[in-house]
Amino acid sequence: MLSSQALYGSTDRLRVAYFMDFDVGGYYYGQHHPMKPHRMAITHNLCLAYGLYRHMDVYKPRKASPEECEKFHAHDYIEFLRNTTPDTITDDVLDQLQRFNVGRQHGDCPLFDGLWDFCAVSAGGSIDGARKLMSGTSDIAINWAGGLHHAKKSEASGFCYVNDIVLAILELLRLYPRVLYIDIDVHHGDGVEEAFYTTDRVLTVSFHKYGDNFFPGTGDVWDRGYGRGEGYAVNVPLKDGMDDAGFSRIFEPIITKVIEVYQPGAIVMQCGADSLAHDRLGCFNLTVQGHANAVAFVRSFRIPMLVLGGGGYNIRNVARCWLFETSVLLGISVDAQIPYNDYWEYFAPEYSLHIQPMRELENQNSRDYLEKVKSKVIEQLRQLEGAPSVQMKHMPPSIWPATDEIDSEDEAEDIASEDPVSSPTAS
Ligand SMILES: [Zn+2]
Repeated sequence: MLSSQALYGSTDRLRVAYFMDFDVGGYYYGQHHPMKPHRMAITHNLCLAYGLYRHMDVYKPRKASPEECEKFHAHDYIEFLRNTTPDTITDDVLDQLQRFNVGRQHGDCPLFDGLWDFCAVSAGGSIDGARKLMSGTSDIAINWAGGLHHAKKSEASGFCYVNDIVLAILELLRLYPRVLYIDIDVHHGDGVEEAFYTTDRVLTVSFHKYGDNFFPGTGDVWDRGYGRGEGYAVNVPLKDGMDDAGFSRIFEPIITKVIEVYQPGAIVMQCGADSLAHDRLGCFNLTVQGHANAVAFVRSFRIPMLVLGGGGYNIRNVARCWLFETSVLLGISVDAQIPYNDYWEYFAPEYSLHIQPMRELENQNSRDYLEKVKSKVIEQLRQLEGAPSVQMKHMPPSIWPATDEIDSEDEAEDIASEDPVSSPTAS
């Protein structure tokens, strides 16, 4: 039987905070839109059905305030998101719709009822997840409604409006000198990379499909950061058909080297489930077990960890994946047979938590290709060793004061206000 014990012997328990809001499943991007917030309600329901809620601290997420969102986003953009609804569109706001990339007909980022509340709940969970780690009350915080990695300072992009990840990292920077961001969504984590492209206080690593005009078009191996941030953006461009074995072969040595070189105080991991096989938009061939192996591997380093959702357009598989990853993070073995739950019929006919890869999908990532990408990245990381600009002193979180007493807040906000540098390959 497959179980969360399969790798790394991770049955030891860590304190896990879980942000659960069933209302978030009620928001609706539109009939033909692939993003279905309903997947969150299914995931939470499986958490209840499996009894996992009994082993973690469950919180209803607070809505982030506009002021909190403006630590990264522009004031006029946030005002627009708060005040514009499908019913209030007038000629006056048409230019804003265009400028902020919201509400285009058949566009990626529609203006839907409750949009601001949806963004505020997603961001509130991620910010408060960061605070749980900082206060030392949790070792791991999970917000599956977060992970919206494409949102920019003044622009919606790729189904994302407010970048909860950037906001959570800014919060973590108030305490931790260095924060590591890891992104395993099938799409490049461009919004997060861009926000921290010029700083060495955040190292971003994104594993994603690159090439063939795949969205968002950025994330080549040579895009490595700029100025003080040079070398601190890591991109692992991959091809169609990536399978479990190939993914762990490239993920594990790169993450091991990143952590060895960078010694982060906290890790934020975006677990976009569109890198699974059978996704409506993705082109990888990972199973739930293969996807979760990456999460288990990062957990094995025992560094405070904020775990977020992201893409994922086959809602049954998204729920399978995030339920299983919750169990992996808890260090609890779960039955591969899904127990009775409100969405029981969704999982017919096999009612299995696990999925099979697509046999007909060829893995275009040859051993040779992966080896070449890996050596380029390892060489990039080697050059960071002993880099004079980064403060390499390790600071265990437990000896630090509670969030309110931290005086490095000004520095964190300075980083947010720096003008991001656009990647030269932006689409
Ligand atoms: Zn994605």
